[in-house]
Amino acid sequence: MTATLLDGAATARAIKDELRPEIQALSARGRCPGLGAILVGDDPASAVYVRSKTRACEELGMHHETARLPATAATDDVLAQVENYNRRSEIHGILVQLPLPPQVDVERVLALVDPAKDVDGFHPVNVGLLVQKRPRFVACTPAGIMELLRRYGVPVAGRRAVVLGRSDIVGKPMALLLLHADATVTVCHSKTRDLAAVTREADVLVVAIGRPGLVRREHVKPGAVVVDVGMNRLEDAELARDLLEEARLREFVKKRHALVGDVHFPSVKEVASAVTPVPGGVGPLTIALLMKNTAKAAALAP
Ligand code: NAP
Repeated sequence: MTATLLDGAATARAIKDELRPEIQALSARGRCPGLGAILVGDDPASAVYVRSKTRACEELGMHHETARLPATAATDDVLAQVENYNRRSEIHGILVQLPLPPQVDVERVLALVDPAKDVDGFHPVNVGLLVQKRPRFVACTPAGIMELLRRYGVPVAGRRAVVLGRSDIVGKPMALLLLHADATVTVCHSKTRDLAAVTREADVLVVAIGRPGLVRREHVKPGAVVVDVGMNRLEDAELARDLLEEARLREFVKKRHALVGDVHFPSVKEVASAVTPVPGGVGPLTIALLMKNTAKAAALAP
């Protein structure tokens, strides 16, 4: 069996296309949605993520700004930038690119973001609303995954869902969304015993651990739907030979690096009924949902 590819890139394009008229209508009312990003330090991956997000704003005719702070910035410097965006009416959504340098108090920073501009859904108020099944802004990655499952007609209600990973930004909100969609949900983490026995119970398996290729054929029930959230930069040639299929391996040899997920794609695609690729799976969906949340924030703004 070879699994169906769940094409996140195409789904993200469809979501953005549906958003375009809404953004045009808001702009016509003098409310062009605006995203204010904060990028602290010079982590190359963070810079790439922020650039992809601001490029998506451009594509959709949305306003965007990026405040760049040095790697030595103090918590107060980041707080001052959040306050600046909180005050300004042309900024409807605030994106604090994570991770922040270790000297910055990330909890204080995220808590200062106006909950009405919290398009990443990380503020305690928005987390609380999600827990109570009254969601306003939901974390973009899990929200994007739900949209992908819905558009591919993957049934969730009454099925067994296993979420591998319990982070605040992916695993926990993912588990809540699946629960609210009436799945029977299990959350696994680094202390879970006999992981494969648990993940093999899943009809829908969402993997978000940041461990290249950890989830292999033996972790997956035949016919399961597997969503790979992992985004790992791979530089190890031996691991690359194990994880990458031919065409991508040739590219790896040229570039000496590749982006891989947490799922061992070559073996899992033989047993799953559907699987997301990396790249081109969950990543583009996250960006599309950020755009959707920013447009929603603009529409709801006073
Ligand atoms: P994180 O905060 O580092 O959390 C990782 C989680 O995985 C933790 O709950 C950890 O367990 C668990 N874990 C780690 N190793 C494990 C193992 N060997 N067995 C079982 N569980 C294990 O990561 P994150 O922010 O959720 O991100 C996860 C991955 O998704 C990363 O590759 C990240 O780059 C990617 N990501 C992608 C997108 C996207 O748009 N595609 C968005 C966000 C994140 P403990 O809690 O016990 O430590």
